[in-house]
Amino acid sequence: MERTPLHALDFAALQQCIHCGLCLPSCPTYAESGRERSSPRGRIALMKAIAKDQLPVTDLFADEMNYCVGCLACTSACPAGVDYAELLERARATAEQAPTRRQSPWRRFERWFFLKQLFLRPSWLHATARLLRMYRKSGCERFLRETRLTRLLPKKWRTLERQTPEVSPRFSDDWINAIESPASPRFRVILLTGCVQDVLFTDVNRATADVLIANSCEVITPRAQGCCGSLHAHNGDLATAQILAQRWLDRTPLDSIDAIISNAAGCGSHLKHFARLLASEHAYTERARVWDAKVRDVSEWLIQIGIRSPVTVSDPGEAAQSFKVTYHEACHLCHGQGIRAQPRALLKSIPGLELVECAESTWCCGSAGIYSLQQPETANRLRERKLGHLRATGAAFAAMGNPGCALHLQPRSGETRDQNPEIVHPVVLLARAYAGEKKAPR
Ligand code: SF4
Ligand code: SF4
Repeated sequence: MERTPLHALDFAALQQCIHCGLCLPSCPTYAESGRERSSPRGRIALMKAIAKDQLPVTDLFADEMNYCVGCLACTSACPAGVDYAELLERARATAEQAPTRRQSPWRRFERWFFLKQLFLRPSWLHATARLLRMYRKSGCERFLRETRLTRLLPKKWRTLERQTPEVSPRFSDDWINAIESPASPRFRVILLTGCVQDVLFTDVNRATADVLIANSCEVITPRAQGCCGSLHAHNGDLATAQILAQRWLDRTPLDSIDAIISNAAGCGSHLKHFARLLASEHAYTERARVWDAKVRDVSEWLIQIGIRSPVTVSDPGEAAQSFKVTYHEACHLCHGQGIRAQPRALLKSIPGLELVECAESTWCCGSAGIYSLQQPETANRLRERKLGHLRATGAAFAAMGNPGCALHLQPRSGETRDQNPEIVHPVVLLARAYAGEKKAPR
């Protein structure tokens, strides 16, 4: 049979699964379907069968690999240390290479356009984001909806249209200088501005630069960064992910920086594994290892260097106004990177902030990269489940460290927030607290 990315994997990685089933209760797609093949154990069994040439790559295999939300909750639950993230990347790449029914000319065109054009060219992404902003602001969106002309769109595009995001009025390069420095820097870091974060949540990037500077870091923000390749790796395009990783390694002065900062869980989880991604590219092996060791989520880095707690009260007799915040754990932060305590510690450093835990904080919200576009029904059920838990806390804010989750959970165009908390990145709350300092000890 044809060699696939699963055949190229060290078979021991698949054999690591001991079929114990301890991962099953943590799997959202198993909880939804009750089917063994939609569980981590079932999916690994399918992958094994393909790697052993006992099964061809079928439509069913491709469907199951894409039904998986990629939340990695199974990785946290697994006592045998199965690296499900790598298995899933290989399995999706295998499914993409096979002539399944998913490979229609239109889908191939979509993948080519999104993965090989739009997300490889920051200028195209910016132009598309500006068009989306114009679509919403010009009244075009309202007109199409009120006249119900959107009904003429194909079903998938109707779903997409309903999720048209709010685009930032300006992007990271317009708002963050190439180098920004505090008076006496102790550290030098590179700030990754991402692709989705860059055009939809530019305020998060600005806030990240601000909190780093407030914690004595000189911040270097490379221009026109674009996608880091996580979108490609998570969607079965490992070849493009490798090219993007090599680009980052070529352009980054690794010796002169202390850390590479990501504020997006999905990206951070990918960025920490360039050595694995480029294992066959021997010219990059050493640099990729150094890179991996320097990548940090912003919360992880701030706690590591000793976060400075904001001082918002100049008069000792004056109490800080208290407000409730709950925390949703982005899958690729808690399961993908094992980062759970640091974002909470960051939030607790803010005077007046009361952290209230929500139920099922580590259960996937259904965003999962482009999953919400590919599997909208499942994604929406997971969204409602998550919003219910966030609402039940009575918190004013729901903090989360991933743009995908924020985009999925924030009110959509035409929706009101109702009783739901305002969705916010933890660094935005921290940056606001620094900005509110009356007397900041430096
Ligand atoms: S990544 Fe999430 S959805 Fe996929 S198998 Fe693991 S627990 Fe289930
Ligand atoms: S918990 Fe780990 S070893 Fe057990 S079935 Fe799940 S993936 Fe396999």
